[in-house]
Amino acid sequence: MIPPMIDIDTVTKYFGEKLVLDRVSLRIAPHEVVCLIGASGSGKSTLLRCVNRLVAHDYGTIRLDGVPVDDPSFGKTGLQKRAAIVFQSYNLFAHMNVLDNITLAPRRVHGQSRAEAEDRGRDVLARFGMAGFATSYPEQLSGGQQQRVAIARALMTRPDVLLLDEITAALDPELVGEVLAIIRGLKDDGMTMMIVTHEMGFARDCADRVAFLDGGVILEQDTPDRLFGTPQEPRTKAFLQRII
Ligand code: ADP
Ligand code: MG
Repeated sequence: MIPPMIDIDTVTKYFGEKLVLDRVSLRIAPHEVVCLIGASGSGKSTLLRCVNRLVAHDYGTIRLDGVPVDDPSFGKTGLQKRAAIVFQSYNLFAHMNVLDNITLAPRRVHGQSRAEAEDRGRDVLARFGMAGFATSYPEQLSGGQQQRVAIARALMTRPDVLLLDEITAALDPELVGEVLAIIRGLKDDGMTMMIVTHEMGFARDCADRVAFLDGGVILEQDTPDRLFGTPQEPRTKAFLQRII
């Protein structure tokens, strides 16, 4: 068996008294794309954030490429460099142009020179059809373009893993497709991804596996064909009937 890129092993997380993740296990192989689905409050974002330690889990182990995410060898910023996250809200700096937005962390946090960061930045922007917008400001861009910049920013440090948390949820419907097309392209390039999404069509098309979270438990995980076609658990069925 290929060693997993992400290995979540019986992970439990409480917020105060509230049990939010209950002995969750999920293994994601290199180049694999796993979509997390489930109702609001089921723990999807928390699970994603535990992987790059924006949230610290309480019990169990999470390994990135074999190394526990709380291992001191990652240092302060090493983990977020290797497991980059993109959120629903793009969080671009309004007073900085696109190229400055995406080169800021590589230069300030990860020690790249301006020339090195800007070369990489221009490459990534070009790849996403944003080459002409390097000196534009966020407010001059559509939501879809801003989200493409946010994805470009996440890729600046050449992460091993991309974590995506409902990245199309805030977009107007006509802008969703352009962002999903970029994610599809990253999958075709072999990026390992863990994707929280409500876009079931996209999950069906792009995921190698889909995991259904319910009340902090992965109730069911399978190929998209099987999970959407013949869900085994009544709660999975009920969720899918509501959402599709
Ligand atoms: P989802 O992404 O599936 O909607 P979340 O992971 O955001 O679910 O939340 C799971 C549960 O944890 C919810 O009950 C939520 O209210 C709670 N929760 C999430 N983040 C925090 C936090 N920082 N402090 C306290 N409770 C939280
Ligand atoms: Mg969430």
